[in-house]
Amino acid sequence: MTLATRQPAAKAADLLSWYDRHRRALPWRALPGESPDPYRVWASEIMLQQTTITAVKPYFERFMARFPTVGALAAAPSEEVMQAWAGLGYYSRARNLHACAKAVVEQHGGRFPDTEEGLRTLPGIGAYTAGAVAAIAFDRPAAAVDGNVERVMTRLFAIEAVLPGAKPLIREHVLTLLPAARPGDFAQALMDLGATICTPRNPACGICPWRDPCVARLEGTQETYPRKTAKKAGFTRYGAAFVLMREDGAILVRTRPAKGLLGGMAEVPTSDWRPDYELDGAAQDAPVVARWRRLDVPVRHVFTHFPLELTVLVARAGEKAQAPQGMRFTSQGRLREEPFPSLMLKVVEAGLEALRPPPSPP
Ligand code: SF4
Repeated sequence: MTLATRQPAAKAADLLSWYDRHRRALPWRALPGESPDPYRVWASEIMLQQTTITAVKPYFERFMARFPTVGALAAAPSEEVMQAWAGLGYYSRARNLHACAKAVVEQHGGRFPDTEEGLRTLPGIGAYTAGAVAAIAFDRPAAAVDGNVERVMTRLFAIEAVLPGAKPLIREHVLTLLPAARPGDFAQALMDLGATICTPRNPACGICPWRDPCVARLEGTQETYPRKTAKKAGFTRYGAAFVLMREDGAILVRTRPAKGLLGGMAEVPTSDWRPDYELDGAAQDAPVVARWRRLDVPVRHVFTHFPLELTVLVARAGEKAQAPQGMRFTSQGRLREEPFPSLMLKVVEAGLEALRPPPSPP
């Protein structure tokens, strides 16, 4: 940090004037002169946690068309919310989103609290989201430190502290730069700078509004920040997924427990998922006795903490087959209404493909 003393100080004004020319147009972002809608700001922040903007955009538009206000979201049945969320992953966020909408309606008369402290009392709103919503929706002087902001700040000040321990220090640096006017735009500008200019690789320092005060640029060490501890890779877990088709085409499905991974989502029955799962014993985990056929290509999925490999087994059942307790047969016409996570969509698709009758010879 010794070089920092010889650098000109970074100024919020330089970043804001860059933002005025280069701000990204995002579906949840108010246009210049417009007031932001706290509901849209909050929903976008929840959707963007661990998901990219490109992936979120179409979901966001559909979600807003279906639940245009926090009241509409609060009043919706939870299956409908989970279904609208399906594909975005990290389903605990959808459950918290719904719980938060209800709390806003029941405890705050349908209006989001307008301070960081008030927002922190709501379900699913942590330090980052509270700061982001307070700043963006209510123009409060709050620090919203996400991965983009961490990268910009650690480079700008050459912060040697290692993440995640460095977070409070980064936050302090953001607070020292926060302008009294337009703190909401400052928060968004910082996010945009990290996303478009100060990128993880090959940052475009030549066109960066903070190129002169940036210590890492002067030292040529931009890409070495932020400092991180090496991550341990999770062990792959294995399991079996059972696609059972009744003679009328209906598929056997069940709902996962409300708490835990993919809680409340629909799935075809599966075995446990374990690093030491033995496929040879898969028939014992099947929901019914049937002539199970194993597909050659497994379905793979990566969760936050572990990769998963599910082997799909398919079978047919007679038209009078009854679903075991806690399960149900869903007709193929209604399968789209089941809140399947993307992993299960892949499993069901593979199973249906394998069960499709071969084309009749010409
Ligand atoms: S000068 Fe380069 S490294 Fe420094 S903040 Fe700007 S883009 Fe990032």
